[in-house]
Amino acid sequence: MGQATDIRVPEDALCAALRERGQRVTPQRLAIARVVRELDTHVTAEQVLTAVSDRLPGVSLPTVYATLELLEELGSVRRVSAGGGAVLYDPRTDAHHHVVCRRCGAVVDLEAEIDDAQVITAAREAGFVPDRADTVVHGVCAACLPTD
Ligand SMILES: [Zn+2]
Ligand SMILES: [Zn+2]
Repeated sequence: MGQATDIRVPEDALCAALRERGQRVTPQRLAIARVVRELDTHVTAEQVLTAVSDRLPGVSLPTVYATLELLEELGSVRRVSAGGGAVLYDPRTDAHHHVVCRRCGAVVDLEAEIDDAQVITAAREAGFVPDRADTVVHGVCAACLPTD
């Protein structure tokens, strides 16, 4: 019984956030936001497009990119640069870190307390206005390690 409410709450928040910014609430935007939440992992725009096309045909990749960018501005997704030029979108928006496998590209959340203040300060000293700092650890995942 309570489940319908659970699903609707983030959607209502998203609608409110869109309207607050003078952005239209469109079926595409809602479907893309829902898909990212349901996939519940780090996804590429292409993966979002595939999943969203199942339920809402006619959505284009540029629309997915633009919507993901908008959702990031609204704080509904976080962009993760996993190296190698791949940009992933993360439905988890609290501060956390990632480890990336350089063989298969697997991206896993890292639970670690890291003091970002020093990095932020260094970025300021380099003349940047930092948005946030996050750490990406690069390496090889267990599945990709040679077994011999
Ligand atoms: Zn791997
Ligand atoms: Zn993550």
